[in-house]
Amino acid sequence: MIPYGKQDISQADIDAVLEVLQSDFLTQGPKVPEFEAMVAGHVGAKYALAANSATSALHLACLALELGEGDWLWTTPITFVASANCGLYCGAKVDFVDIDPQTYNLCPKQLAEKLEQAKQESRLPKVLVAVHLCGQPCDMEAIHKLSLQYGFSIIEDASHAIGGKYKGEFIGNCRYSDITVFSFHPVKIVTTAEGGMALTNSDKLASRMNLLRSHGITRAQSLMTREPDGPWYYQQVDLGFNYRMTELQAALGVSQMDRLNDFVARRHELARRYDQLLADLPVTTPWQHADSYSGLHLYVIRLQREKITTTRRQVFVSLREQGIGVNVHYIPVHTQPYYQAMGFKVEAFPEAMAYYREAISLPMFQGLTDNQQDQVVATLKLALAGSEN
Ligand SMILES: *Cc1c(COP(=O)(O)O)cnc(C)c1O
Repeated sequence: MIPYGKQDISQADIDAVLEVLQSDFLTQGPKVPEFEAMVAGHVGAKYALAANSATSALHLACLALELGEGDWLWTTPITFVASANCGLYCGAKVDFVDIDPQTYNLCPKQLAEKLEQAKQESRLPKVLVAVHLCGQPCDMEAIHKLSLQYGFSIIEDASHAIGGKYKGEFIGNCRYSDITVFSFHPVKIVTTAEGGMALTNSDKLASRMNLLRSHGITRAQSLMTREPDGPWYYQQVDLGFNYRMTELQAALGVSQMDRLNDFVARRHELARRYDQLLADLPVTTPWQHADSYSGLHLYVIRLQREKITTTRRQVFVSLREQGIGVNVHYIPVHTQPYYQAMGFKVEAFPEAMAYYREAISLPMFQGLTDNQQDQVVATLKLALAGSEN
């Protein structure tokens, strides 16, 4: 099976992890700060806080932004559930903004309209999670402008987008947001097995996330309520979690970061090849914004259903049967039973639903060979023709 995504592990990665395994620190040592400094330096953010997953980092980000009961978090329905769940963890309510049919990202025009409506009803969001789907950046300038007008905070869920650029600058520098989150799950662009990171330029937000990542416990006297009893002393000043990344994970991350630019460059080569090889097929290939450089975590095609006699389901099943590990990103979050129980109407987000009925993610990862890619395309051609071979 050719999977849709796969990690790329080198001998240097293995050596880096083994070295930590034989060192004094398996957790809370020097590797996590080294990884944090490396990512912060690469993307141009002041602070980076590693966590045991992007989901944890999103939770920390929402808590640092003081999202709580009675507040609203808005995001796109076309994302992984974690982009929305982080709001629910904080006791906030979640709502969605439909996608732009060209970029598949949250649509800034619909956002503007929904904000105006929400303002009249006094239910403006406190936090907006902007997801750079497939690695393609959202229209951050427009979203940022709206945040100033309506007074909400912005988290960039850049789980798909490390190594990508928006208007010439690396995603993660938080120029248009309060916090940016990366994921290091193995299907993502660089991996630490499980892992995530939150980046920010704010002293206050970094300090909050740092505290809550480790039980709400501090050894910094400036955060304590009184003089320490002695050198052993720490205080729990808030209710936090254990969301720490291990040294083994950080060592893998440091080693992987050396190849980030190569990884993304290879993904771009593959995307260009797909664009050419699929040009005459009844599919819509991903649109790329001229002003941005996608991280290209995913390569999603949309079937032009009016031009084919088969269904998306048939095409998908036929590809899987032929050893092509395609996937669908994503099942719209508001259609999940847990969200349905909150009363969301399935057709409330028609662009998201239209996208969902047509989308297939083709294999896209740095180790995919040209030969394998040719095999994907040949199999797709047969599947689209409805051939049962
Ligand atoms: C993968 C992913 C996450 C969650 O990442 P984990 O590191 O697995 O917690 C969140 N948001 C998006 C958009 C993702 O793709």
